[in-house]
Amino acid sequence: MAQNNKNIILTGDRPTGKLHIGHYVGSLKRRVALQNSGKFDDIYILIADAQALTDNSDNPEKIRENIIEVALDYLSCGLDPAKTTICIQSELPALHELSFYYMNLVTTARLERNPTVKNEIKMRGFDDGGVGIPVGFYTYPISQAADITAFKANCVPVGEDQLPMIEQCNEIVRKFNSVYGDTLVEAKCMLNENEICRRLPGTDGKAKMSKSLGNCIYLSDKPEVVHKKIMSMYTDPNHINISDPGNIEGNAVFTYLDAFSRDEHFERYLPDYSNLEEMKEHYRRGGLGDVKCKKFLEKVMTEELEPIREKRKAWEADIPGVYEILRKGTEKARITTGKVLSEVKTAMRINYFDDSALIRDWMNKLGQ
Ligand code: ATP
Ligand code: MG
Repeated sequence: MAQNNKNIILTGDRPTGKLHIGHYVGSLKRRVALQNSGKFDDIYILIADAQALTDNSDNPEKIRENIIEVALDYLSCGLDPAKTTICIQSELPALHELSFYYMNLVTTARLERNPTVKNEIKMRGFDDGGVGIPVGFYTYPISQAADITAFKANCVPVGEDQLPMIEQCNEIVRKFNSVYGDTLVEAKCMLNENEICRRLPGTDGKAKMSKSLGNCIYLSDKPEVVHKKIMSMYTDPNHINISDPGNIEGNAVFTYLDAFSRDEHFERYLPDYSNLEEMKEHYRRGGLGDVKCKKFLEKVMTEELEPIREKRKAWEADIPGVYEILRKGTEKARITTGKVLSEVKTAMRINYFDDSALIRDWMNKLGQ
């Protein structure tokens, strides 16, 4: 396998909506920590508008609008353009060229086996005697492999739903290298150590908080909106009276506490317990009401979200500055991905115009 002696991160989001607390714990918070660790040579964050169009082709306005929303979310969470390059997918032609070549290395049967895509097809009703599956959507794991390899990224911090994409990407890398010679680099998926954070459920208790399911708490939600959403969250439907024993499993309030609360939060906001385990124990036993749990969760969430809201306000006052960050980042990414595309074309022997051997070989053949 081609060796990368650099540590490079690539990850990103589809601009199909504002970012929510699932994105935050699944990937975004981690990116900021990795950025500030100083352990990486380069960090690229891709706003995947071309991928978003694969299932939103009739609504480009939505994608256009959410490019700035997502950028604002990034900057408010602490992604720093001096350390992290934020770029826009559709503006990087090398990615689209790479996808086209990689498509020859993947079978349709292999694409059909991708469990995340299968699930998303169902969710979107593409298979339901509806409109059918757009080819671009069906092949998006290939385009995602182009995104990752075009930066020679070896580290991809994402949520659990992305594991099949990284697997597909690495299969393409191995296939490419074995057919055309060592060129591309395999990537490792970096999941949050806390399993709950890898796939945060929605406020409705459903398997995944997702923009498309409308069960999200957005990073930019106002305090009163967060309050409303938390107060109407799914808990244990059989926990009717405070004295009833309650269930923790599948109870979204406790899942969020697992993801966000720390011991010091108890000291500050709920000193009846010294940690989450004690609180869970009381809930299981009976005698602890949902409202008390939700109020505590709201305090914990406020502590996490308030600094993000503050930063957002500052960035919202400078939209031209945000736009400029995207433009500069995209320019830098265009150079990086262009270089990798050149290497790929050389390996594939389709670099006709920067290959003088092509002329020489022909002249030799003709005895000149
Ligand atoms: P869409 O419904 O448009 O696909 P989404 O909410 O699934 O939107 P993506 O842009 O597809 O968001 O995902 C961006 C990143 O956030 C990926 O790394 C993904 O794994 C992660 N992510 C998305 N939802 C969650 C979640 N609920 N918990 C943890 N990580 C998540
Ligand atoms: Mg998604």
